[in-house]
Amino acid sequence: MKKLFVGLTALCLIKVDAIAIPAYEFGSVQDTTYDSQRDVFLNTTMRWDNWCTFSRVKMPNGKTCWDPVEIPAKKKLVFSFRVDLFREENWQYAIAGTVLIGQAKAPVRRRFVGINVESFEWPEESKVWPHLGLLYVGTVAEQEDYEVKLWDELIQGKAPLEQLIQPGDIVGLSLVTTGMERGVEIAKRVKTLGARYVVAGNDSAMFRARQLLSLPGQPVDAVFTSNSLGSIRQFFQQATSVELSRMQIPRLAVDPRRAQYVTNESSGVAIEAKQYGTSDFFLVPNLTLYGHEYWNLVWSAYRSQFGHKHVRPQDVRNAIALLAQGCGRAGAGDICDYCTIRHVANVSIPEQDYLEETLDTYRAFGINTFFNVTDSAFEMGPLVHRLKEVGPVDSMVIYGRAQAIAQRPERLNEWLNVVQHRLLINCGMDSADERILREGIHKSSSKVGSRVEENRQAVRTIKAAGEKAHLHYSLIFGSVGETKDSCERNLEFLQWTIDTLGSQLDVVEGDIFWVNFGAPCSVIFHSYEEASRRAALAGKTISREQWHTHFAQYADELVVPQSCEPSWYHFFTNITYETALEYNSRVKTMMEKVPGRVTGRNFAFKPPA
Ligand code: SF4
Repeated sequence: MKKLFVGLTALCLIKVDAIAIPAYEFGSVQDTTYDSQRDVFLNTTMRWDNWCTFSRVKMPNGKTCWDPVEIPAKKKLVFSFRVDLFREENWQYAIAGTVLIGQAKAPVRRRFVGINVESFEWPEESKVWPHLGLLYVGTVAEQEDYEVKLWDELIQGKAPLEQLIQPGDIVGLSLVTTGMERGVEIAKRVKTLGARYVVAGNDSAMFRARQLLSLPGQPVDAVFTSNSLGSIRQFFQQATSVELSRMQIPRLAVDPRRAQYVTNESSGVAIEAKQYGTSDFFLVPNLTLYGHEYWNLVWSAYRSQFGHKHVRPQDVRNAIALLAQGCGRAGAGDICDYCTIRHVANVSIPEQDYLEETLDTYRAFGINTFFNVTDSAFEMGPLVHRLKEVGPVDSMVIYGRAQAIAQRPERLNEWLNVVQHRLLINCGMDSADERILREGIHKSSSKVGSRVEENRQAVRTIKAAGEKAHLHYSLIFGSVGETKDSCERNLEFLQWTIDTLGSQLDVVEGDIFWVNFGAPCSVIFHSYEEASRRAALAGKTISREQWHTHFAQYADELVVPQSCEPSWYHFFTNITYETALEYNSRVKTMMEKVPGRVTGRNFAFKPPA
């Protein structure tokens, strides 16, 4: 009897999964993908043959050699050791339970752990909004029948990986610039804990897909090169039954040699502008995937910063929602030089049904303060009209471009009609110097007027709208061509807005200019001509040798090295890195004297390393 129990126990520690593989090998493995709906593999090796490329001759069955060759699928059993049972608090009972229930009835593990990765310890003022992307991916995973665990390092601190990860988990990492290097460390660690796959997404991962997939030991197995919910859903549908290298999922990169190069350089976004639809971006998230503790952290952080701006601070419950998608200026590939927002050119406005269902879901959860994170919502007429039909919310934050606010004052009144108490417009003013706005930032404008005047007119428009309208804006020090004079003009503009807006000015945040991969300015890492052009805008030159030493040699790094920052200031501006930091700190000092202000972050984008 004892021997039988030991035998059964050993048997139950073996986990068995069935995965799909081709019934026979044909052509290159790299050219073979899996079509889960038809349960068949497709091979395109023939396309690499020049004869095929040029002739496209039809064969007797009506197909050309360009069409994929279909290979039937068969199931393969994969055995692994279930160390997860030993990590249960009462592992003896867990094993015994597994024995008694029987291995044959054990369900295939479908568990997804999503982590928003952050390297920095951020202060309270940076922790006021929940992470929506993680919630979106978690909701899709849950709809596809996965058990879901989410961890947001920005709000909750470092992820307790040993407690969070179980063998067989699929781990998703949300990576922005400030989390890339830690993301790689997490990927390595969760692999040692038995994670089945590590998949990365979010802006910085998408811009560096090839580099992430080329890391030694391949800690990251796949990278989503878009936010398409369709791709994410297909991944979850196939993840427990198909080998990753065989998946046929658009915009899921698994092979560094074939990873799509995505960038906000104009050539990149213009190509993609029309490739996505509303179903790629919009989803009603399951807000309960974050526990009460998480929401209470967010709400108490928000109240500590913005509470005094609300009628009943203790009742404020805030959350992020995506009520539309894209930036109105970017459709033709016209993008601010520092912009690292993926899909900025994909403008999409959902139907009223979606807006209604989304707002109802949030309201049922008690949310009364919304941050609509559409890149430039202000100018989207159909959006504000549909929201008006859906009915007002208590408070809302939206992004708005100064050009649009200046030129469409009537639209501000429309937005004020969709809130009962407060509308906060978040705007990138960026600079108060015409030349910097035009050449350094590459800020949008009507092309006939002054960008500085549009910034000022936007402020006057908000002032004229009355106490319900508020402004949150940002300034940058260190754009191409920056001088001490242009920095001084920024501070003069800041003082003017303080004097003009009074209590309607909620937050002003400054930052220095950071070069990040994916932004249009990152073209300096692979184009000497573009580096020279930017140097000329600052009245300087850069030799090929200097370009290689300071920039080109880093073109394939995961993140732009800190050493490139002083070089940026040296070659492309007329101030130093230290001067930019000093001006940035003066913004904070000036704002500290404003009664009723919101604290705001010391650095709108990231603190120096
Ligand atoms: S206005 Fe904002 S979202 Fe649009 S391109 Fe500029 S930085 Fe990006």
